[in-house]
Amino acid sequence: MSSSEFAADVIVVGAGNAAACAALSAHENGASVVMLEASPQELRGGNSTFTGGMLRFAYNGAGDLKRLVPDMVEQDLSNVEFDTYTEAQFFDDMGRLTQYRCDPDLTEVMIKRSFETTDWMRTKGVRLELTLGSHAFKVGGKFKFWGGLPCQIWGGGPGLIDALHTSVGKAGIRVLYETPAIGLLHGDQGVIGVRARREGRTLELRANAVVLACGGFESNAEMRARYLGPNWDLAHVRGTRFNTGRGIQMALDVGAMPTGHWSGCHATEWDMNAPPFGDLAVGDSFQKHNYTFCVYINAKGERFVDEGADFHTYTYAKYGREVLAQPGLFAWQIFDQKVTHLLREDYRIKRITKVEANTFEELAPKLEGVDGRRFLETIKAFNEAPRPDVAFDPNSLDGLCTRGLAINKSNWAQRLDKPPYHAYGVTCGVTFTFGGLKITTRSEVEDTAGKPIPGLYAAGELVGGIYYHNYASGSGLMSGAVFGRIGGRGAAAYAATRR
Ligand SMILES: Cc1cc2nc3c(=O)[nH]c(=O)nc-3n(C[C@H](O)[C@H](O)[C@H](O)COP(=O)(O)OP(=O)(O)OC[C@H]3O[C@@H](n4cnc5c(N)ncnc54)[C@H](O)[C@@H]3O)c2cc1C
Repeated sequence: MSSSEFAADVIVVGAGNAAACAALSAHENGASVVMLEASPQELRGGNSTFTGGMLRFAYNGAGDLKRLVPDMVEQDLSNVEFDTYTEAQFFDDMGRLTQYRCDPDLTEVMIKRSFETTDWMRTKGVRLELTLGSHAFKVGGKFKFWGGLPCQIWGGGPGLIDALHTSVGKAGIRVLYETPAIGLLHGDQGVIGVRARREGRTLELRANAVVLACGGFESNAEMRARYLGPNWDLAHVRGTRFNTGRGIQMALDVGAMPTGHWSGCHATEWDMNAPPFGDLAVGDSFQKHNYTFCVYINAKGERFVDEGADFHTYTYAKYGREVLAQPGLFAWQIFDQKVTHLLREDYRIKRITKVEANTFEELAPKLEGVDGRRFLETIKAFNEAPRPDVAFDPNSLDGLCTRGLAINKSNWAQRLDKPPYHAYGVTCGVTFTFGGLKITTRSEVEDTAGKPIPGLYAAGELVGGIYYHNYASGSGLMSGAVFGRIGGRGAAAYAATRR
């Protein structure tokens, strides 16, 4: 059934960060816009709502940050070292983490537009705050930022989505909830609308341009097993249940080019008793990212990764895969009292899998599923391993490493010798998938011949080619915002030529 009731120049599929940025951008460039969202209104915002609101952008010192965080001038920041995170540093991180596979053109656009897009988001009501305490520890009376993330969105993911949707509402953009897109209307002129389900009916919604911003396939167990491999169907989903890969499939059905790391994904350590999909009441707090200060133990009672290879912002997205590869698909993070003050709030939530004891002998039987005898041997060997005589410093790659172990810990390798010992049980939580649609630097979806499909744009998780193997924390929201904004503008301009 065709429906003129929802006619618009541009249809945006999805209502998360990338979609809201696309819709607002299309609107400010003169288009009428309708957004289609699969979820009910109370669950709106997709994975973007589940985020902690970390946002990665290039900046050249405190002056730039003051522009984005005007409240900074009211804070006493004399004990804070801001440093810089230049475009070159951002490029280096993206290259290193993706093993130099990230699409150079898309990566360049994301990085070079990161600061101005953050500033643009501010005009849409998004507020930022400093990440003191989580991404800068106080050492010797001074905070020093590490990992390129001095700011997060005020109110986290829910704050981001509230702000963007308030602007969407003010712009008069209609959001049709519980209206999943199921296909694209496609003819000789390219894409001319969307087929969607609403209130038990199939509708054909016409538009002059469509922006797909409806997530990857992380919430689809069948696709995870098919593309990511064995046992990925058993992974927990950290966020929304609605990102089932439909948007990607719709585009492939009209000839779009798949690209990127289809067997790769962002996956982290996640409470082993968390529900199968994300729970907005807990948000991202099932995550346990302070493993850099722990000894990580698997079911065999053995260590299996270099916990201190780098700051967690550069390893957490690939260590979920390491946990999934362990027998029983779980692991325990063990800490002593020397570091508990450094652990994030996520380690103090009510719904947590945690045990503690005053000795390792008492702790061993409490570590469910673990070979206790081997665990004791592992801890003993870890504590006895020789180390250089350097000071522990959580703000830098301190070089406090073990030597002579099968797997050494490269930094922050303090001995575990101050009880009581705390242990946290984790499994693998998948965040989002890396494979997706090939787009141009103007967010146009390309076909298999490398030509833009007229009228079709994409942004956010369902874009392929940006992440391979690993991920730089805070860049998912940035990629969605940059390409959403560009795609919205492009869709509005294209729609104007078709009117
Ligand atoms: C727990 C967690 C924490 C994270 N923390 C951060 C962080 O701090 N910083 C960061 O940069 N990134 C973070 N990420 C990653 C980040 O969430 C994503 O990269 C980003 O939000 C993706 O935005 P998006 O708009 O592409 O997708 P989403 O925000 O997921 O939006 C997609 C929307 O499309 C809808 N949809 C799906 N299928 C259809 C359909 N067929 N029709 C209509 N609608 C559909 C979904 O319901 C959803 O609302 C985190 C992710 C999770 C899960």
